[in-house]
Amino acid sequence: MIAANWKMYKDPDQTKGFFREFLPLLGNHERDEIVVCPSYVNLPAAVESTKGSRVAIGAQDVYWKSEGAFTGEISAAMLRAVGCTHVLIGHSERREYFGETDDTVNRKLKAALEHGLTPICCVGEVLKEREAGLTESVLTRQCARALDGLSREEARTLVIAYEPVWAIGTGKTATPEMAREAHVIVRAQAAKALGGEFASALRILYGGSVKPENARTLLSEEEIDGALVGGASLDAKSLAAIVKY
Ligand code: PEP
Repeated sequence: MIAANWKMYKDPDQTKGFFREFLPLLGNHERDEIVVCPSYVNLPAAVESTKGSRVAIGAQDVYWKSEGAFTGEISAAMLRAVGCTHVLIGHSERREYFGETDDTVNRKLKAALEHGLTPICCVGEVLKEREAGLTESVLTRQCARALDGLSREEARTLVIAYEPVWAIGTGKTATPEMAREAHVIVRAQAAKALGGEFASALRILYGGSVKPENARTLLSEEEIDGALVGGASLDAKSLAAIVKY
């Protein structure tokens, strides 16, 4: 899977312009599931622009309640209704700036899965934690809490993205070896929670300054099942080059 996180960039016209350029560049590329996650207001334009293509559209967040007096929030059912099939959950920017916790990540995952959205659940350590040797305990805690109370059947479509926070938007990339080690920890925790068979089939993406220049090195690592791409996904040629590395 190659997933694009557009963060708070682009408007509907720019979204349509992106896909006018991107889809022909993809041609009949079939190897990857490709998911683009624009901001909420661009979802209808993105869904319309990708109709009949192999590109799926995801949201960048979701609220766990179905409806109600929750000003500013969007439910999983609403996302489905506009044609979304995927959703990012627990991105480090949401954890850092918007009070997302392991508990809210768990609630959002359950709501997304219940409504048939494929969640891409983000985990990862900050620099201080890596330097203090806490990477393993942070990833283990984040994964254990995220998966808490989910059955294998419910979590069937789940995707996890390992995103070392120090590598997001910084130009610093984890080495394939660092990413491999982290993915092994995530997979081990998934095995503990949901069994070995589930864990070996689980797709774990790497995210953090993935670019056309480093995509091949990272994605050739066997433990890395795809990429979550931020900055480099905003340009159609750059995202297409990553997909076709
Ligand atoms: C992200 O936003 O998930 C991300 C990985 O960003 P960037 O590729 O810009 O580091």
